This record gives sequence, C-alpha cells and structure tokens, in this order.
Amino acid sequence: MLNLILFGPPGAGKGTQSDKIKEHYGLVHLSTGDIFRYNIKNNTELGKTAKDYMDKGELVPDAVTIKMLESEVDKHREGNGFIFDGFPRTVAQAEALDKFLATKQTEITKMIALEVDDEELKTRLLERGKTSGRSDDRDESIIENRIQEYNRKTAPLKTFYKNQNKFEAVNGTGSISEITERLKAAVDK
Ligand code: AMP
Repeated sequence: MLNLILFGPPGAGKGTQSDKIKEHYGLVHLSTGDIFRYNIKNNTELGKTAKDYMDKGELVPDAVTIKMLESEVDKHREGNGFIFDGFPRTVAQAEALDKFLATKQTEITKMIALEVDDEELKTRLLERGKTSGRSDDRDESIIENRIQEYNRKTAPLKTFYKNQNKFEAVNGTGSISEITERLKAAVDK
C-alpha cells in the first residue's frame, strides 16, 4: 500500500493537490476538513460538535477526530492506499494513526509538506473565501487563528516524521501542475 500524508498550513493547496495525486496513484483521498463540513451540512452529532471549533479556527478535539478518521479508513478499503489531507494535525493524532495502521499491517509511506509563506497563505485564504462558501476563510482573525494553531500544534509533526525518515518538503508556490510534478517526484524518490 501507498499511504501518503499531504501536509501543510491552511491554504497550502492540500485539497487541490490531493485530487491530482489521488488520481495518479489510485488512492483514496480522506480530508478530515471535508468530512467535518459534510457532517455539519447534514446536521449530524459529529457535525454539531465540530462546528463550534471550526467556526473559531480551532482544532477539533483529538478523540473526536481520531475516531472519525479510523471509521473512514475502515469504510474505504478500495484503493492502492490513502492520501490523508488535513490529518494528522497533532502528535497524538500521528501516534494514533501509526498504531491504527499497524493493526491493518500497513504504515505511512511518506509525509510530504507543501511549503508556502504566511503572507501568501493569508492572501490565498481570503481569495478562496470569496467563492468557497467557507466562513472560516472570510474572517482575517479566524484565518490568523488557524495559522497559529498550525504553527503551535501541527508544525511539530515535521520532526515526528523526520525521526521516522519519512519527511519530504516541497515548494508549494507556482502553478498547480508545477507543484503536482514536484509532489510526484517526492513520492517516487
Ligand atoms: P481544513 O479543511 O483542513 O482546513 O480544516 C478545516 C477545519 O476543520 C480546521 O480548522 C479544524 O477546525 C477542523 N479540522 C480538520 N482536520 C482536523 C484535524 N485533523 N484535527 C482537528 N481539527 C481538524
């Protein structure tokens, strides 16, 4: 199995690039943000829990997120592996993912980080907010909070995967196709 984590701050292009990489390698794309938004739209209990955090730009608690992710992995076993987009976002989530995949006799192959500087991220998110229908992309203070959550809780995961020799960094600026080519090169390395 090929199990990839597409990593990066909000606005780095994880969703766009996951679609390309998923097609190329025949993977199942799991985006925790998309799954939460689907649950909010359908007014499920999970959606109600997640909404309060997402509206503020805070991370949804680990226990809720991990349980949801594991059940999604169990639902989708059809591909050559998974591309995880927006998960893990904390060390506790990464540890839980390692343990869970081990019970399935598989593991993370690589974590690939899309690198984009903070100013460019804010511009991209505000631009996306005009059309995405996402309230968390429209408000500058929520965007700021999401970037801070990333820097505080999520960025330390780079070290977690570096220690496992699974970390690759890719320049996340340029055209969509240029970035896709860089990502494929990092996967195939
Ligand atoms: P995203 O679509 O990846 O930008 O995620 C949107 C929001 O969903 C985040 O700001 C968090 O509130 C929540 N979220 C998504 N993935 C996670 C995760 N792995 N852990 C905690 N919260 C998450």
